[in-house]
Amino acid sequence: MHFIGAGPGAADLITVRGRDLIASSPVCVYAGSLVPAEMLTWCPSGARLVDTARMNLEEIVAELCAADAAGLDVARLHSGDPSLYSALAEQMRRLDAAGVPYDVTPGVPAFAAAAAALRRELTVPGIAQTIVLSRVSVVSSPMPPGEDLATLSASQATLVLHLAVHRIEDVVRELTPRYGPSCPVAVVAWASREREVVLRGTLADIAGQSRAAGLTRTAVILVGQALAADGFPDSFLYSKARFAAAGDLPAPATGWSSVPPEPAPPRAPRRVLLLGGSGEARRLATTLAGDDRVEVLYCLAGRVRDPRIPPASQIRIGGFGGPDGLAALLRTERIDILVDATHPFAARMSASAATAADAAGVPLLLLRRSGWQERPGDDWRRVPSLSAAVDLLDRFVPDPKSRPGSDAAARVFLTTGRGDLDLFARLDRPWFLIRCVEAPDGPLPPRHTVLLDRGPFDVDGERALLRRHAIDLVVTKDSGGAMTAAKLTAARELGLPVVLVDRPAPPAGVDLVDSVDDALGWLAGRIAQDPRANGSDHQESG
Ligand code: NAP
Repeated sequence: MHFIGAGPGAADLITVRGRDLIASSPVCVYAGSLVPAEMLTWCPSGARLVDTARMNLEEIVAELCAADAAGLDVARLHSGDPSLYSALAEQMRRLDAAGVPYDVTPGVPAFAAAAAALRRELTVPGIAQTIVLSRVSVVSSPMPPGEDLATLSASQATLVLHLAVHRIEDVVRELTPRYGPSCPVAVVAWASREREVVLRGTLADIAGQSRAAGLTRTAVILVGQALAADGFPDSFLYSKARFAAAGDLPAPATGWSSVPPEPAPPRAPRRVLLLGGSGEARRLATTLAGDDRVEVLYCLAGRVRDPRIPPASQIRIGGFGGPDGLAALLRTERIDILVDATHPFAARMSASAATAADAAGVPLLLLRRSGWQERPGDDWRRVPSLSAAVDLLDRFVPDPKSRPGSDAAARVFLTTGRGDLDLFARLDRPWFLIRCVEAPDGPLPPRHTVLLDRGPFDVDGERALLRRHAIDLVVTKDSGGAMTAAKLTAARELGLPVVLVDRPAPPAGVDLVDSVDDALGWLAGRIAQDPRANGSDHQESG
């Protein structure tokens, strides 16, 4: 009994072993609609050909057992690869029970044929290193708990869905919250066959395309950033860095003293792990991308669905699992320098970076832009925390002159970001204009409007916004920087008070700079040093 993967549809996409087994087996059992007819021509003359299209499992197993009892080899063909959605398991269980021996020959799966049709690698370094192969629930095969699309999409890995194109609207609806509407998607129907159809689009338009093309079956849906055409860093596999690193190894002794010495091998680029999440981080990464003395691993928390990603050797999205996780990554990725260029309020990440750098013996630079400075005409009330801002709002009564005749409830422009908005939820009197980059998902104060927008903002726009919403008070974090400073100028011009939440203190004893230029200067000094002189023992231990 030979279970054979017969591939995605093209007759020549089968292994040599599979073809030879077909040619030497006097019985061939195949699914008529799925296995290319041309493969049956390889069967020996006089072979018994059994189409399973209308047979149930017991009839198929009876056929296999009968052939075995007669001492005949059987080529049992399954489309694609037998390890995926082939109903192989129940046949093998029954053959085990009947004492019939068998082997399995793999085949080309449909997702691989689809990727080939798209001319895409599904695992692009820093973008996606995981492929999720799944399907959607149908009455005959419900999905096990925890395998719903919302859960599977949490990692934003490359996702391949089989047997799902007839429900593409449901698929799009369930995937959009995580992958975002602009995420690349492809549908490949009848992959590798003559009638192959390839649709490329985004989550926003793929359902319409698919319906217009009349696709209802024999298709796979592929989703993920790995499908995008370009803008990706190269992999390490063929990189200069890899060969340069190999060149660092001592040359084997040849005994030929007359051989002239090799020129010194180029020094391997210094590996910089850059914690992103700020405009400064993006600018720093963009400058370093043009410097072949460094390789940058750019890391983001993954809070924003559609982050602005600068050029970098590698991108990594998601937390590290605390300081221990980051320290382990610093070692395994052989990081030479850690730069924390997160937002000034990312206190947990900065504390974690300081602990991890210390533990791994990696030098750390904290790039943190300065806070805003009060100017004449400003009416700022500094508070030490968001909770303190909430307490202040609870007591705040707007100037009755500003809106004569209206009630005394304040109208607040709240720009403290999406996290921690739940702290404000208990404030039921003020009305809030909440501006953030992405929709908040926690509890909000009862009277509010959410405005989704992303800087940079200008003074004219901010002044008009404050006027349009008759704002009494601006509440913001002291984030610093030019991108979001216009609201402070507009508030000053309109005579509005501003509640400014103080930034957390940086971790003690860390090298700190406040500009990209200063960070580049600090890095230049580190890059020039001998990597082994920085005290990081992971360099040697590998
Ligand atoms: P946080 O409280 O300091 O960080 C929470 C956790 O998120 C960290 O412990 C870490 O997870 C992970 N994380 C944070 N930054 C990361 C990065 N660059 N790369 C990988 N993992 C990261 O920070 P947050 O206030 O939630 O902000 C999250 C991200 O948004 C930060 O990168 C920050 O720069 C950016 N941001 C924050 C604000 C703000 O107002 N807080 C504003 C704009 C942008 P593990 O513990 O698992 O390692």
